Amino acid sequence: MHKDKILGGLYGQAFGDAFGMPAYFHPDQTAAAFGWIDDFLPGPPDHVVHAGLPAGRITDDSEQAFSLAQAYLKHGGVTLEATIEAIISWYDRVGGDDSPYVGPSTRRGVQALKRGISPYETGRMGDTNGAAMRVSVVGLLYPNDPMGAIEAAYTSCIPTHNTSVAISGASAIAAAVAVAIRDDATLDAIIAAGMLGAELGQKKVPAWLGPSVTRRIEMAVNIARKGGDVKARLRELYDVVGTSLSIVETVGAAFGVLVLAGGDVKQTGIYATNLSGDADTVAAIACAIAGAYQGIGAFDNHIIQTLENDPVFAAYGVRQIADGIEKMAGSRS
Ligand SMILES: [Mg+2]
Repeated sequence: MHKDKILGGLYGQAFGDAFGMPAYFHPDQTAAAFGWIDDFLPGPPDHVVHAGLPAGRITDDSEQAFSLAQAYLKHGGVTLEATIEAIISWYDRVGGDDSPYVGPSTRRGVQALKRGISPYETGRMGDTNGAAMRVSVVGLLYPNDPMGAIEAAYTSCIPTHNTSVAISGASAIAAAVAVAIRDDATLDAIIAAGMLGAELGQKKVPAWLGPSVTRRIEMAVNIARKGGDVKARLRELYDVVGTSLSIVETVGAAFGVLVLAGGDVKQTGIYATNLSGDADTVAAIACAIAGAYQGIGAFDNHIIQTLENDPVFAAYGVRQIADGIEKMAGSRS
């Protein structure tokens, strides 16, 4: 059922985020510290961004995604006003000026908005992965409507990530989720929607410097599908596609792990985590797509309980968000 897939998308976002949180930037560091990560772990004490976080804790990716969803439901749709409200209130809630996990584009955008600069100007250099890490909820609001999802993804990018590469990356993810949530979705259809989103998204504004998101998705999917040792293919994704804060790398890598896992949400999270780099963001994005594809029924009880037992996740009322999305998306179709 549709609700099952909305919940799958929302829980997938949170699962990937919390699962990837403890991974280090380089896969050799992650392997040296943990071997192979296959369960929730706390942020290790020497982690640059996530030191001290408890096992199962979500980060900025899901907090922003859920904040956007709440604002879109409150405002009756994906609007610029709701986007700005959600991002600024989240930033203030986490003490954004001093928080280690506010990304560079979001910080620059929010600080400019607070100085009274036009929201059409504040995101003009935003080209990191924040636009994609929070956009899965936009896809959930446009089931079976990738074109609508692409338009709405663009709106969600404007205040902080108003560049061709960021809009391309965010549109790829929103369109992929909009198709993943279909009852008859296939991995091929999800990949095609992602590439369509990447192509159309990058035409929304004048070109900003950066490689093609479409080509990076294609490259990642080819690496994932070429067979042979899984760990070698993961390492190739890390070395060739990349998992830095660059949105082109993040979005490409997310499609790579999704395909490597055959769309299975838990396996997608495990691969994205051991891939390392900005692991929580790659995992959050890839698992949001996989969760929407498989539905909440694919999540084992341990995953659901771990997420729901964490106070940060619990405070967002994710099941209420799912109810609201079902209602709003249903009224449109
Ligand atoms: Mg994060």
